[in-house]
Amino acid sequence: MTQTHTYDVVIVGGGGAGLMAALYASRNAKTAVVSKLYPIRSHTGAAQGGIGAALGNLEEDHWEWHAYDTVKGSDYLGDQDAIEFMCEQAVEAVYDLEHYGLPFSRTPEGRIAQRPFGGHTNNETNKPVRRSCYAADRTGHMILQTLFQQCIKNETKFYNEFHVMDVIIQDGVTAGVVALELSTGELHIFRAKAVIFATGGHGRAWQITSNAYAYTGDGEAVVLRRGVPLEDMEFFQFHPTGILKLGILITEAVRGEGGILINGKGERFMERYAPNIKDLASRDVISRAVYLEIKDGNGINGKNYVHLDIRPEMVNKYAALDGRTRLDGSPYSITAEEIHAKIPDISDFCRTYLGVDPAKDPMPVQPTAHYAMGGIPTDKFGRVLTNSQGAILPGLYAAGETACVSVHGANRLGTNSLVDLIVFGKHAGLNAAEYAQGSDLQSLPDDVEGFTRQQIDTLRNGSGKEKAAQLGDEMRNVMSDNVGVFRTEEGLSTAVEKLKELRARYTDVRIRPSAPGFNMELLNTWELGNLLDLALVTAQSALVRKESRGAHAREDFPKRDDPNWMKHTLAWLEKDAVRLDYKPVTVTRFEPKERKY
Ligand SMILES: Cc1cc2nc3c(=O)[nH]c(=O)nc-3n(C[C@H](O)[C@H](O)[C@H](O)COP(=O)(O)OP(=O)(O)OC[C@H]3O[C@@H](n4cnc5c(N)ncnc54)[C@H](O)[C@@H]3O)c2cc1C
Repeated sequence: MTQTHTYDVVIVGGGGAGLMAALYASRNAKTAVVSKLYPIRSHTGAAQGGIGAALGNLEEDHWEWHAYDTVKGSDYLGDQDAIEFMCEQAVEAVYDLEHYGLPFSRTPEGRIAQRPFGGHTNNETNKPVRRSCYAADRTGHMILQTLFQQCIKNETKFYNEFHVMDVIIQDGVTAGVVALELSTGELHIFRAKAVIFATGGHGRAWQITSNAYAYTGDGEAVVLRRGVPLEDMEFFQFHPTGILKLGILITEAVRGEGGILINGKGERFMERYAPNIKDLASRDVISRAVYLEIKDGNGINGKNYVHLDIRPEMVNKYAALDGRTRLDGSPYSITAEEIHAKIPDISDFCRTYLGVDPAKDPMPVQPTAHYAMGGIPTDKFGRVLTNSQGAILPGLYAAGETACVSVHGANRLGTNSLVDLIVFGKHAGLNAAEYAQGSDLQSLPDDVEGFTRQQIDTLRNGSGKEKAAQLGDEMRNVMSDNVGVFRTEEGLSTAVEKLKELRARYTDVRIRPSAPGFNMELLNTWELGNLLDLALVTAQSALVRKESRGAHAREDFPKRDDPNWMKHTLAWLEKDAVRLDYKPVTVTRFEPKERKY
């Protein structure tokens, strides 16, 4: 029996963006959050490093500097009006979190503590600036706990462990979503005047990734199937410091606290690639450097990894060479106790997964698939855009990693995702509620859950010739080999062909008969279908973009090409073919320049 629920605003996803949207939407509209995970298990909880905002608590800083760093970090593909909005609003959003009770780490005077992070600089000296606000190395965890408590206090309605599988669009207007309840296997219709997708990223398309198992791009895949394009999907960030083979993230905060990258020859190789800010250059720059060192045989023992070293003797040696000082002008240094206090979770990860103590041993690291700059196109109010002229799909919103506003352009700076969630989550919530107040419920189409049933039936009735696990392995390998840190025409063409083949073979997958409740095989297989769609869109968008910009590095087109390519990609998936279109980048005050770190 399909149950129907009716709300003004339905938010899909209970991570940072979803909870922030819920908090603000529920002030003015009857709101529900529908989430496949229990909210505090969302990937936001894994964010370690911090949230960037120009509070200027420890040294001079301005939101305009933050905006410039973000534009530069984006390799001039970010929309500058949205970036200015985000960086200005970030300050207020961090104080909002403080007032909601987030236990930030503090300075001795009791202000919110801030630390340096990759790509964040004093625009006058070009030196790293302390801009990242943090709660030890558990910032995201604290954000989720804080926002979830606030939502409970506001009596927001939660539907946890409900998987949204379709969005209902009737006569070009949003009418709700269809979800499968994990515990019963039954479908539920959520009627709503406005729907906000806040479903996170899709890094599970790659073999080595820092992303949670749930990062299967459901929101993007669902709207893509309903004719909404995806923006800038070729830009996927590889974080330079994932734990060897496992991909688990070692936060950039380790380098913020003085950690350095060392190759097999014992060299601090970032001196060669980013002479100015070295180990605190932006992630795309460092990932490429690590890749090139490994390719040149300079990995540790010639293998495919380098060392991240935060042992006090190394940090103190290089801090002295760099002339790094504390705020009072005394030489910078760190002790083993300080390492364990400032990055407690990282210390634990290293002990558990590597058997090493970061205060005594270097950490073996390699680049790991980390963050989707691309996603569902929105404006800064969270409204979903459906073409290059900026047409709006009434009632449909997106926020967080699943959305592309675009504030991160071709490469996101560390700490800017949490800012994005808080600022655009809030504004999507406010705007969706306002829209809902001024509109009526849309009527439902006849067979409202028909498309969802059809997707499930296809998985139940496939020939069974193919195994989902095998297809998943092949997809992750082809993405890692060909759509990784460096790309070529040949590799990308191979990927496109292979992904088309995998999508065809996917129709021959059959899940085993089982009781309807807790059918994870059904859901995981459906999620694989989402990843396959997004992987194809990513590879095709990357194949056509013949330049190198931010995280998209083409060996065959090594230069950024502003005259031809300073534009956003929009991609539609029409049966097996990806159709592409482009739209201009908004430039307000920062004319494109060559990026130097
Ligand atoms: C290890 C790691 C460390 C990071 N560290 C930082 C950092 O220090 N600073 C920073 O700025 N950024 C960091 N990032 C990036 C940042 O944490 C994420 O981009 C951000 O938290 C994503 O938030 P979100 O709200 O968009 O998604 P999430 O927090 O992942 O929430 C997604 C929600 O969508 C729900 N959902 C998904 N699919 C469905 C579906 N089909 N039906 C119903 N619900 C669904 C899930 O249940 C979940 O509640 C890090 C990322 C990782 C992986």
